[in-house]
Amino acid sequence: MLFEAVAKYYEKLEGTSSRLAMIDVLSEMLKEADKDEIKKLVYMTQGVLAPPFEGVQVGIAEKFAEHAISIATGYEQAQVLQSYKKLGDLGLTAGEFAGKTKLRGLRRTKFEVTYVFDTILKIANTSGSGSQDMKIKMLVELLGASSPLEARYIMRFALGELRLGAGDATILEALSKAYTGDREFKVKLEGAYNMCGDLGKVADVLVRKGKEGIENFKVSLFNPIRPALAERLPTAEEILEKMKGKCSVESKYDGLRAQVHISKAKGRVEIFSRNLERLTPMFPEIAKAALKEVNAREAIFEGEAIAYNDATKEFRPFQETIQRKRKHGIEELSEQMPLHLFAFDLMYLDGVDYTNLPYEKRRRKLESIVEGDGTIRFSDMIIATTAKEIDKYFEQMVGNGLEGIVAKDLNSPYVAGARKFSWIKLKRSYKGELSDTVDLVIVGYYVGRGVRAEFGFGGLLTATYNEKTDIFETITRIGTGFTEANMKMFKELLDHHKSKKKPARVNAVVEPDFWVDPEFVVEVRADEITRSPMHTCGRDGGEEGYALRFPRIVSDGVRGDKKPEDATTTKEIIEMFGMQKRIRVADS
Ligand code: ATP
Repeated sequence: MLFEAVAKYYEKLEGTSSRLAMIDVLSEMLKEADKDEIKKLVYMTQGVLAPPFEGVQVGIAEKFAEHAISIATGYEQAQVLQSYKKLGDLGLTAGEFAGKTKLRGLRRTKFEVTYVFDTILKIANTSGSGSQDMKIKMLVELLGASSPLEARYIMRFALGELRLGAGDATILEALSKAYTGDREFKVKLEGAYNMCGDLGKVADVLVRKGKEGIENFKVSLFNPIRPALAERLPTAEEILEKMKGKCSVESKYDGLRAQVHISKAKGRVEIFSRNLERLTPMFPEIAKAALKEVNAREAIFEGEAIAYNDATKEFRPFQETIQRKRKHGIEELSEQMPLHLFAFDLMYLDGVDYTNLPYEKRRRKLESIVEGDGTIRFSDMIIATTAKEIDKYFEQMVGNGLEGIVAKDLNSPYVAGARKFSWIKLKRSYKGELSDTVDLVIVGYYVGRGVRAEFGFGGLLTATYNEKTDIFETITRIGTGFTEANMKMFKELLDHHKSKKKPARVNAVVEPDFWVDPEFVVEVRADEITRSPMHTCGRDGGEEGYALRFPRIVSDGVRGDKKPEDATTTKEIIEMFGMQKRIRVADS
């Protein structure tokens, strides 16, 4: 497939104002790709060069890009910069200069989409001495032979700023439409995606092996599984009722979730985060222990990694565990403050996919392959059949300084990538006001008035994620909690990401001063959830949506570890609203 055709589809996509129209455009485009192209086309459409866990960074520096445009078209770099300042988008600048190039002789070879992808991948992977010259040469070669439209998208892709606004769920739905004729098969595709965290791989299997390949999709070693997530309930009684009278109840450790993959034959261990990033270098003691303490040839299991003092049996606060998320000084840290892994689940063992087995079996097997007294321990657990037992265990855990408990259905399979009632969390914070924070997606911002005018920033319009419709629904405007430095940072960041019109996947009745592509997540605390006609969160055809009272921002800037689709969902807000009411009734 020619990149020229892909660029035309991308342009069409930018012009769409509804998610369904996006699916139509995407599915038309995906249909045109060959078997050997689909994987790369899907990555490109996601704006990445590989699935996130491979850690291949797309993203050249702006100065580098300006330099490449100038060489490729024969203009001074200062002229390129001037255009960039005016247009605010190096993609448009690259297009403008490609349209008036002084180096006509260089153009025009038509290239395939895979050629563009491979060249940008090569640019990303080239390092060492002389690499800058080589990289420039490759980018110049692409830009020099591009039409204005191609140059626009090549530049945005190379900068890591393609931002087509199509989330993973939208791409899956488009794949379903393109290769099965309707959107229904999306559920199965999502299931496969949850097993491997690799959209390119799912597309490749669909195109090569059809529906059957997707229906028989299995977990595989070194492909991270999207984690099972927990629902919330406010009381032990409700938990037990949902669990039909019997469940396991475990300590909820406040650390970092870690999914461990081991292959003894290869001597290889990989550890993945909740968001499928590769964390192996940050947890050397856990990686070492996984090879030593696990009695299996190959396994995938998971647990919570937490700083723990074995001598005093003391769990250290989250702030200490999170210090591991850095590049340097890890070895020293792992000696000063070693982490332990409190393992709780097993998903794969020696060639067998365990995800469909009931939790009780998975857990028992896990306990049979690990000693459990070294760096790898087991999460503490009891089997409860009365609410009293759950409450007692909960009080005991909170007394030990833990966050709360997670109850688990003993008969449930491992539900990858979904928040289901097979896991239910009960936290200290549910027993009071709405003190659990929420993670919201920025969809717009306001310019400052009064004192704020000087910063040009007066607050954010934020949204929840509706996973059923794959749409962002507004829930609150946030005007407080910002420091001066924060306001400056938001203004700069959001200016760069603002959208001329309401993004296709945003549903809103209020209008901010500027729309922003849904990309950034912030952590927010509020006093309570209320009903409001001003917001679309949970409106579902009715008059009133849900909103937050007295919202304030608590994260220092945006949360780098969450994608917009990882934000608090509309469904969670509705459940939290229900819990809030029940707690009030219980208190009065
Ligand atoms: P939270 O901020 O409450 O941890 P979350 O959205 O990150 O929320 P949830 O799925 O809602 O994650 O809650 C479960 C999380 O609790 C897991 O992701 C895991 O990191 C952590 N956890 C700690 N102890 C356990 C345990 N024994 N079993 C399962 N998860 C546990």
